[in-house]
Amino acid sequence: MSNAPPPPFERCTVLGVPVDLVTEPEVLAAARGAVEHGKRAQIVTVNAEFVVMAQEKPTFLRALQDAAVATPDGAGVVWALRRRGIDIRRLGGSDLIWSLSEQAARLGHSVFFLGAAEGVAQEVAHRLSLRYPGLRVAGALAGTPREEDEEAIAARIHESGADILFVAYGAPEQDLWISRNLDHLGVSVAIGVGGSFDYVAGKARRAPPWMRDRGLDWLWRLVMQPWRWRRMLALPRFALLVLTARGGGIGQPEHYFD
Ligand code: UDP
Repeated sequence: MSNAPPPPFERCTVLGVPVDLVTEPEVLAAARGAVEHGKRAQIVTVNAEFVVMAQEKPTFLRALQDAAVATPDGAGVVWALRRRGIDIRRLGGSDLIWSLSEQAARLGHSVFFLGAAEGVAQEVAHRLSLRYPGLRVAGALAGTPREEDEEAIAARIHESGADILFVAYGAPEQDLWISRNLDHLGVSVAIGVGGSFDYVAGKARRAPPWMRDRGLDWLWRLVMQPWRWRRMLALPRFALLVLTARGGGIGQPEHYFD
């Protein structure tokens, strides 16, 4: 059972994985509150792949349970919730990287970009600074998700004095990295954003809006990045688990009943 305090918004679970019924303004308000009150908050963006991985990897499940905010990301999770009458919009890292940066620029909070291939984090910092003048960039670093490198990377982030950290190592590495290190980073907010650095830096293209609106991003990614096919088998597995689970796999987190 998680020790995390109940979040200020309604939380449910999809096959045991927490998902908050949050909107983008609520996540931004939570991030702002964490920075202004010197708290620490991990944000995770839960999609169908996360849910399937968490069934097999208890450390990942635990990290997701301990997150301050778990957004519903991806068409699969939204579908599972809608089947049970919970109507929620998806909200992932590739949206939040823009809105959190916009808010940070407006409020004077500083940001750090960690992950992706060499030079990409710097390009992300450059592009977001052009888009949001006044954005305070505390640092940008490719780094690595390897455990032997994390002490040095964590020290660099701490020295930078950043308020908000974006980590792009892909799941589950990025979310486990944040979960292990959040207490020594000095940041208030940390979020794993997957392939979003590649989108912001123009290294990869997001699915066009009409495909995203129809929940077809998976098809776009399969066409653009066919080597992902094996990973994407998580999607039919997720659907099967949801269709065969009692209550459609939707529940409430245990700590609500503490
Ligand atoms: N990545 C990295 N180091 C690694 C593995 C991945 O920096 O050891 C980066 C990779 O360059 C990409 C991101 O992590 O920018 C992961 O992207 P992916 O599309 O796999 O993530 P998803 O959005 O599916 O979680």
